[in-house]
Amino acid sequence: MSKVRTRFAPSPTGYLHIGGLRTALYGFLYSKKNGGDFILRIEDTDTARYVDGSVEIIYSTMRDSGIMYDEGPDVGGNYGPYVQSERKNIYKEYAEKLVELGGAYYCFCSPERIEGLRDEEGNVRYDKHCLKLSKEEIAQKIANGEPYVIRQNVPVEGAGSYHDLVYGDISVDYKDIEDGILLKSDGMPTYNFANVIDDHLMGITHVIRGTEYLSSTPKYNLMYDAFGWERPVYIHLPPIMKDAQHKLSKRNGDASYEDFIKKGYVKEAIVNYIALLGWSPKGNQEKMSLSELIENFSLEGIGRSPAIFDDVKCRWLSGEYIKEMDFDKFVSLATPFLMESKAYGKYDSQKLLNLVKGRVQIFSEIPSKIDFLEEFGAFDVNMFVNEKQKASIEVAKQILPAIKGKLEAIEDWQNSNLFTALVELSQSLEIKKQAVLWIARIAITAKEATAGGATEIAELLGKDETLNRLQFSIDLLNK
Ligand code: GLU
Repeated sequence: MSKVRTRFAPSPTGYLHIGGLRTALYGFLYSKKNGGDFILRIEDTDTARYVDGSVEIIYSTMRDSGIMYDEGPDVGGNYGPYVQSERKNIYKEYAEKLVELGGAYYCFCSPERIEGLRDEEGNVRYDKHCLKLSKEEIAQKIANGEPYVIRQNVPVEGAGSYHDLVYGDISVDYKDIEDGILLKSDGMPTYNFANVIDDHLMGITHVIRGTEYLSSTPKYNLMYDAFGWERPVYIHLPPIMKDAQHKLSKRNGDASYEDFIKKGYVKEAIVNYIALLGWSPKGNQEKMSLSELIENFSLEGIGRSPAIFDDVKCRWLSGEYIKEMDFDKFVSLATPFLMESKAYGKYDSQKLLNLVKGRVQIFSEIPSKIDFLEEFGAFDVNMFVNEKQKASIEVAKQILPAIKGKLEAIEDWQNSNLFTALVELSQSLEIKKQAVLWIARIAITAKEATAGGATEIAELLGKDETLNRLQFSIDLLNK
């Protein structure tokens, strides 16, 4: 068997979206699993759809996500150039060869003539008009400088069949395939031509791409066959949906990899999650690093049914990665998000981050978890009521001065000391520990739900602020 070579062939039309990244990931995983090569090819022949800067986004996204290629425009390789617009001469040479082989022909029809072929439904289908031209006529027209395209010569009868590793046996009647343009009048190839030439010349053994190409693959096979080239193995991937009806796509404004990073998802979680969009691992393990994904990946696990992007699950995975992350790494990734909080700069940043580390799934949740520190003020005293913990307004009135007194005496203002003091107090007052902690927390935060317990928060606030807040709440209760 020849060495496995897969490729990712994005068109530079904007951000790299989740579907594209999944295609890249599967190509990467399959080649790495089999000790093969993974190639990046930029398909920029559709100049109308070209968006400035998108090639750089493709490079940076792939590097950042770890889906790194062995060959590509910016890393080189033996099969370049890896940008289609730099391969014009190659396409011309092969288009002419295909004409000689009978798989294609010159077409000089004017746009007006083509327009005239429109049927009642508004569809244009080329009528093989120029297939009848003699060699001499063609040579004459070219010599006269008449503009032309090269079209594929699709048989009128029969069907093109092939085996797709995911979708099984596929067959398309040739009568349903038109003689599409392979080389445009400006000398640029269409995708339909360039993908065949490049995949062959670049030694691609496995073509992994979206299902939108499932039914056009027979026309590519006609060309492989005409040239006498071996067809690649085909693996078409099911679409990714945002819900039962709608595809996840950049056209619908759905998120790109960069958007997910900006929202604070852990990148390893994004890659891990998109690996599961269409592929089911054999065992039950779902959380996998890139090297575990390589180890476990198999084409057999790719299913046919559309995969629905489940943001809840993606966030959950991100949260799992955050829990496991070592603290230094967490600090470096979380700090830009911490800076968005009102609490930033007012408290010890390490302590703030320590408070939220196990409590967020994506980094952008950080401000909402700690903003409460800066939102203290008058509150509804009914918040003290908690039947389960046996806390009430009366108990709060009774114990808050004692809590304040106990804490005032503490010199070394640390969570553990504060906690011990409150536990001691609960014992001496014979009041449930949970009730004391509940009341203390409400009194210093004015919030029913907070990240962190009473003493953790008190440590962050510092002694003076904690005592001031306790006094504020005592006064509020006595109003
Ligand atoms: N340039 C094509 C696209 O972006 C690539 C399809 C393929 O992988 O062959 O859809």
